[in-house]
Amino acid sequence: MIEDRLQAELAEIASLGLSRRRRVLESPCGRIAAVDGRKMLNFASNDYLGLAGNAEIARAMADGALHWGAGSGASHLVSGHLAPHDRLEEEIAAFLGFPRALTFSTGYLANLAIVPTLAGRGAAVFADKLNHASLIDAVQLSKAQGADSQRYPHNDMAALERQLAASSAPTKVIVSDAVFSMDGDLAPLPLLFQLAERYDAWLVIDDAHGFGVLGPHGKGSLAHFNLPFHPRLLLMGTLGKAAGVGGAFVAGSDIAIEYLLQRARSYIFTTAAPAPIACALSKSLTIIKAGDALRANLFARIGQLRDGLAGLRWSLLPSLSAIQPLIVGENEAAIALSKALWERGLWAPAIRPPTVPKGTARLRISVSAAHTAADIEHLINALKELA
Ligand SMILES: *Cc1c(COP(=O)(O)O)cnc(C)c1O
Repeated sequence: MIEDRLQAELAEIASLGLSRRRRVLESPCGRIAAVDGRKMLNFASNDYLGLAGNAEIARAMADGALHWGAGSGASHLVSGHLAPHDRLEEEIAAFLGFPRALTFSTGYLANLAIVPTLAGRGAAVFADKLNHASLIDAVQLSKAQGADSQRYPHNDMAALERQLAASSAPTKVIVSDAVFSMDGDLAPLPLLFQLAERYDAWLVIDDAHGFGVLGPHGKGSLAHFNLPFHPRLLLMGTLGKAAGVGGAFVAGSDIAIEYLLQRARSYIFTTAAPAPIACALSKSLTIIKAGDALRANLFARIGQLRDGLAGLRWSLLPSLSAIQPLIVGENEAAIALSKALWERGLWAPAIRPPTVPKGTARLRISVSAAHTAADIEHLINALKELA
């Protein structure tokens, strides 16, 4: 039968205990998630500012749908580029202090647009080993076009410099997450920028987890390090995490963005996201800009969690972001801990290899501005009990 091979592989995945299953939420994304008829305290989302269920944003999306309809009708370059899309690009660029921005339906598509479009035949790509899967796939597409690629050990600037110094490629592209999605730590962006200058490379930064959270007004990781716009920078940010809606942007110089618009296949050959999403994102952006109180609460909750778990049998990685990974070690132990928390009404997913290195299975605790001090206290007490 045609499906035999697939069935055998599925059986193997199951026998290794690596089958994934989806939990069905019976409520909007928020601090409480209704699952299987139970109310769970949610530490499993990337909704860092608690905006996914925000009523003002939902209203902007509903009004947008009534005004602009549900569908955009075509790709951006044909006839699908509506006024709300255009306005959102301008708002994002102005917010970040970059000349221009382009929006995408997802961050995955945005990363697939940047790397292979900049780095084709003869180019060399230098990528951090812990980069997000979408960047890894983007580099694979570059390689398929004849680019050379190398990975450097996580945040190892000396190794990156050796690779850059040894390369004679006329086009060099350095690619890194700003906040790493499974460790929550930051890339040394000022050092990356210095190396990009020294070796005349593009610097592509994926700020999926920094945008909205870090830096003044939530402008993200570059702003956190006080790094202003520079033409060699391409900044990608996702709009489905802290921004609470969906989609992504790439910001850069006028010329770099124009080049992506003309050339990037994952921009050109896909239908524009529905305009109501752009309407919702414009509203989200105004909330992010004025969101110092949300960020203050988020960082207070992060501090509370870190203080409360100090000295525990398992320790948190040294993360300043909303991603707080608690390293457990063995796969079975991480799964058992996640399950024990689940039984106590607390949802913190276990992350295992191959997503993270062997022996570092962990709980990926994701803190949100929507969490209360009592929520964090609840999690701390449960983990202390289980330790
Ligand atoms: C989530 C994520 C993406 C993908 O963004 P989507 O909008 O979910 O497709 C890209 N990079 C990083 C680092 C991410 O965490």
